[in-house]
Amino acid sequence: MARLFLHPGKERSLLRRHPWIFAGSVERLEGRARAGDTVDVLSADGRVLGRAAWSPVSQIRARMWCFDADTTIDHAFFKRRVAAAVAARQSHPLLTGQDGLRLIHGESDGLPGVIADRYGDVVVVQLTSAGADKWRDAIVAALVQATGCSTVYERSDSDVRGLEGLEPKTGCVHGALPETLQIVEHGVRMEVDVAGGHKTGFYLDQRDNRLLTGRLARGRRVLNCFCYTGGFSLQALAGGAESVLSIDSSGPALATAARNLALNPQLDAARADWWEEDVFEALRALRAEGRSFDLIVLDPPKFAPSAAHAERAARAYKDINLFGFRLLAPGGILMTYSCSGGIGLELFQKIVAGAASDAGVDARILHRLSAAPDHPIGLSVPEGEYLKGLAIQIA
Ligand code: SAH
Repeated sequence: MARLFLHPGKERSLLRRHPWIFAGSVERLEGRARAGDTVDVLSADGRVLGRAAWSPVSQIRARMWCFDADTTIDHAFFKRRVAAAVAARQSHPLLTGQDGLRLIHGESDGLPGVIADRYGDVVVVQLTSAGADKWRDAIVAALVQATGCSTVYERSDSDVRGLEGLEPKTGCVHGALPETLQIVEHGVRMEVDVAGGHKTGFYLDQRDNRLLTGRLARGRRVLNCFCYTGGFSLQALAGGAESVLSIDSSGPALATAARNLALNPQLDAARADWWEEDVFEALRALRAEGRSFDLIVLDPPKFAPSAAHAERAARAYKDINLFGFRLLAPGGILMTYSCSGGIGLELFQKIVAGAASDAGVDARILHRLSAAPDHPIGLSVPEGEYLKGLAIQIA
């Protein structure tokens, strides 16, 4: 096995169990390693710190599999880690019974670069690092064994694979895809398109926030911006909203939303309106028409994939939140989110506070929101906390 030596002092983050080794921390590699190969990691004074996957073209030059000198990185290792991640979901009382569930959340589950989501009998896996890509067979076999699922579909088409020198890869790696796939989320039936949908097909991270939206929606006029396939909209209807206007620029997403509404005959479709439009323009048009709402959901796409985009993203967040506040009736609630890794909670809250003050409203936070507990955040890996939200009520 090749040996990776760190520059003096660069072991500090590893001693805190942070799993990334940046290119600038690597003093030298002794021996030969190809992309994804396991290497021993040593401090400058020769102490073994653990084992990592080597990734020669990435700025994250290696990702730790373990923080000791004894663990062997083999099929059995992946079997143990995958089984532990699946068991943690199975034993969480708020997650049992869910048929759409994140089973593996990358670094936070000790499996850097591995995402696995379960939709009924289908597991969708996304491998985004050289090490994860190298161990595909072991990870897939372990998932099949731990879940008993009949199908594993790979959706390794995220842009970040390019940073690791990996080509996109999609398709069935075990079994076959059923023609259509549905899950039930808090009583609402939703179609999941694992081959063509966003990410692995569905935004599982918002599950519990959708339920909260439903709880707050009774008797309210709801506006759901960036609605995708209608997750928040349908929960609002289920919760007894008076009306729900949903906006998204994607025709296919809205077509799926319409099918989802039809899958739930218990919901009153007459209360739902769908606009295929740019949200930035639609918000201005609604304001010009003098419309107002009692509950507004803003769940935009990632405006800032990294800190480098933060400034432009901040303007976009400010803009939609400003219009959100202006469209709220007195006592109305804004549920606003950012899934940008480059915008932390503190900055996000500042942006939203700025929007409230520009809109001239008195506002207070009712709930701080984050991803559901099947998307845990490793305490040593705060970068894992990408989704943050605020439920804010105005006077
Ligand atoms: N809230 C959704 C997920 C939103 S994902 C859920 O709970 O499932 C972001 C959505 O924003 C995508 O559906 C995308 O089509 C849409 N989108 C991106 N930019 C947009 C824009 N400028 N105007 C309207 N919709 C946009």
